[in-house]
Amino acid sequence: MHIEKDIVVSIHYKLFDDQQQEIENSYNDDIPMQYLHGHNNLIIGLEKELEGKQPGDRLSVTVSPEEGYGAYEEAMKQQLPSSDFEGLNPEVGMGFTAETDSGPMPVTVTEVTEETVTVDGNHPFAGKTIRFEVEVTEIRDATPTELEHGHLHSGECCGGDHDHEH
Ligand code: ZN
Repeated sequence: MHIEKDIVVSIHYKLFDDQQQEIENSYNDDIPMQYLHGHNNLIIGLEKELEGKQPGDRLSVTVSPEEGYGAYEEAMKQQLPSSDFEGLNPEVGMGFTAETDSGPMPVTVTEVTEETVTVDGNHPFAGKTIRFEVEVTEIRDATPTELEHGHLHSGECCGGDHDHEH
């Protein structure tokens, strides 16, 4: 058995930024990350390298923005008047949900001055080349429900707040 479409994969990983600084480490949580392979649940650059792998395999995968979190888009950065944030005490690094034409969007405060607050809707890794050190820990066949939904119901991808019936 190896990793292919419709296989549930457990991986441990360490994530490094373009300065080779470790940003995430799933070993710290003890629990591996699980995902359903072949359903766009992972960034494409990582998923295609995992294809065909087996439990016990380790790999180092460098992911370009094109196959990762996309290009950095200047237009998703916005300077707003401080008055929009009255009572919220915005600080650099804080997250907010902004109402946009295409629906609610998570943004991060990147700069605060007396008159303005700059928020950025880009993913923190947008425009960056990142690297994963991955260990495949376990694989199994997906259940019919998992295949029907195209994702798992445990773990980060769902969070329990999607609105279809289970
Ligand atoms: Zn579901």
